[in-house]
Amino acid sequence: MIQLHQIHKHFGQHHVLKGIDLTVGKGEVVVILGPSGSGKSTLLRSINFLEQPTSGIIEIDNVKVDATKASKKDILGLRMATAMVFQQYQLFKNLNALHNVMIGLTSVKKLDRKQAREISEGILEKVGLKDRMSHYPAQLSGGQQQRVAIARALALNPQVLLFDEPTSSLDPELVDEVLSVIQKVASEGNTMIIVTHELGFARDVADRVVLMEHGVIVEQGPVEQFFTNPKEERTRQFLGKAL
Ligand code: ADP
Ligand code: MG
Repeated sequence: MIQLHQIHKHFGQHHVLKGIDLTVGKGEVVVILGPSGSGKSTLLRSINFLEQPTSGIIEIDNVKVDATKASKKDILGLRMATAMVFQQYQLFKNLNALHNVMIGLTSVKKLDRKQAREISEGILEKVGLKDRMSHYPAQLSGGQQQRVAIARALALNPQVLLFDEPTSSLDPELVDEVLSVIQKVASEGNTMIIVTHELGFARDVADRVVLMEHGVIVEQGPVEQFFTNPKEERTRQFLGKAL
């Protein structure tokens, strides 16, 4: 489904990703944990070329891209196969919730407005925002804005959904409503890669967990094994400190 092979990323002299190999199966939910600065965001952003990896191969279904010779068509292929939810929502402030979700469908997927509206309304309802569709981002809470961002990603029906610390900007009392929407999306068989610091959530939602540090994967394993019987001392330390 998704294969990352030997992904390297340098920012100038700074070697941020040092040969990441990761496979994600169809319908699988992989959670990436790791201290700040370990390269988690850079890895997610490399998958859709928001950052161009210095080298490595990214394969999503039938799109296989060698980072050293990626064409515009390759990059477009990866962008169409993915959708990302960011820490800071990144909604269009001048569009209401409905139009924030519709715009990807009309502009990227080239659906007509009627179809785009039907799909978008359905998905906003699913994330619990049926009564907020005509609200602008400034009129919504952080949790509601992030649910609009999730709806926008879902509407694109990508091969894989990428979440980069989706609850890190939220006030504590708004975290749960967003996590439970992500949980619901996960339970519907979507393929997802989620970066989070919420360990309880990670344990609930993940099929597999990956720990990154200093641009390498320290350990990865099935969720129960990762939390109850990690192989690496570093993982025990990380879990111990974070819990
Ligand atoms: P994480 O998401 O795990 O906190 P990041 O992927 O954001 O880590 O960052 C990993 C390292 O790469 C950090 O040292 C960060 O400063 C550096 N970095 C990230 N983005 C850039 C950039 N655009 N330019 C230069 N350095 C960057
Ligand atoms: Mg990050």
